[in-house]
Amino acid sequence: MSRVLVASRNAKKLKELRRILDEAGVAGVEIVGLDDVPPYDEAPETGATFEENALAKARDGAAATGLPCVADDSGIEVDALNGMPGVLSARWAGRHGDDAANNALLLGQLGDVPDERRGARFVSTCALVVPGGAELVVRGEWPGVIARKPMGEGGFGYDPLFVPEGGEVSAAQLTPAEKDAASHRGRALRQLLPALAELAG
Ligand code: IMP
Repeated sequence: MSRVLVASRNAKKLKELRRILDEAGVAGVEIVGLDDVPPYDEAPETGATFEENALAKARDGAAATGLPCVADDSGIEVDALNGMPGVLSARWAGRHGDDAANNALLLGQLGDVPDERRGARFVSTCALVVPGGAELVVRGEWPGVIARKPMGEGGFGYDPLFVPEGGEVSAAQLTPAEKDAASHRGRALRQLLPALAELAG
């Protein structure tokens, strides 16, 4: 069994990767999270791109633990804001993780933007770093539009404002399974499967 560190304390992210590995029939990989390894200094996310942030986190985790390490960075890119909030998604309204304030600010900014220019995409980049070995960075995107008001109670972050392309409901109105199947994170994580299968031997 090879152990792989996922540089996260988010139980949902760990479970999602385990589920994706199971669905793909990749056996022999044990996913552990930051709470399962001795603590190490976690650098703040200061990169200019999702890729830089994910790679820095994965390098830190691999160096600190000696385990292959997967790390992700994600956010939303809004066309009418020239791709912002981007890497600043979590703190767009000024305070890290204040979802309600972030959503209110984004809605206000797009107040006069017509329907045909409300395009956006969720982005997830995932990096895999093997100590003394390979580095891989992949990107998953989930296209959609920004609604005119929040809809739904599920999910987190910008989900109530994000209507995936081709649908009419927001990401916060999807079941967790429906969101997993379509989301940026799932699309990125699935691209890591061949490399993780190789680690499993
Ligand atoms: P991080 O990758 O955990 O740093 O998350 C960055 C930020 O992007 C989150 O705080 C959310 O605001 C936003 N975000 C990333 N993925 C999602 C998603 O699936 N739904 C809603 N918001 C998301």
